[in-house]
Amino acid sequence: MSYLIPQEMGPLLRWIVVFGLLTARYLLFAGGFFLVFYVIKRKDWFYMKIQQKFPDKKRILHEVKYSFLTFAVFGLMVVLINYLRTHGWVQKYGDWSSRPLWYYIFTSVFIIFFHDTYFYWVHRLMHHPKIYKYVHRVHHMSTDPTPWAAFSFHPIEAVLEIGFVPILLLTIPVHFSSFLILSIWMIFFNVIGHLGYEIMPSWFVRNNFFKWSNTPTNHNMHHRYVNCNYGLYFNIWDRLMGTNHPKYEELFEEVTGRREKVHQQQEAAHQQERLLEDGAHSSLN
Ligand SMILES: [Zn+2]
Ligand SMILES: [Zn+2]
Repeated sequence: MSYLIPQEMGPLLRWIVVFGLLTARYLLFAGGFFLVFYVIKRKDWFYMKIQQKFPDKKRILHEVKYSFLTFAVFGLMVVLINYLRTHGWVQKYGDWSSRPLWYYIFTSVFIIFFHDTYFYWVHRLMHHPKIYKYVHRVHHMSTDPTPWAAFSFHPIEAVLEIGFVPILLLTIPVHFSSFLILSIWMIFFNVIGHLGYEIMPSWFVRNNFFKWSNTPTNHNMHHRYVNCNYGLYFNIWDRLMGTNHPKYEELFEEVTGRREKVHQQQEAAHQQERLLEDGAHSSLN
């Protein structure tokens, strides 16, 4: 993000701009999904809700408050990264033509997998019984999270969460647009993970390819049961380390099965209506 802001901008103004951009991204994604799932379709789509209840306002305010605190910390991190950049510490990859296309594609994909791996292990560290209550508990105060919980972290956790960015910048040359793609990917999957509604198709965890991807049910169970399902974008590390909740797939099937049942009932009701209408028309004729 520091590449988007003119080099000559001072640290305070840079921090304000970054905070503003992160807030706008949060309001657009978390706010958009919240508006649709928790306001407009609140009653209509309740059958898709993983936990069959809604969190109270106090919990949502907690999620928003800590997310804003996180953006303040992320803003400081960007100021620090810019300092490192101006002092020649950051690996340079500014010009498109300076490296082959395969390198660009490889690094764009690599940073997504790197972030997922980094997150899994840092997340497990934060669940260590001696550290948990001081840092990560803030995020887990949402036992039934909403999209607003996407960045609801203690400030120390916020530093740990963004820590993978300076590690990458100091070690391998990555084009700034790859970080931009990651930034959109990150907010989207973070919001989906905290959505509280299962939106993936029912065959998802049974499919040999897609079962390696994460689902809203998986992360919702992490908030509900705490010591399981630590993954972020993928279900790779949880499967490899055996840390998925033993009933993860069962609950996923239950939630998506509930949705399919409602859809079948709706379809049957529509068909009945159509038959009645046809019957009414033919008796009039
Ligand atoms: Zn956790
Ligand atoms: Zn979470």
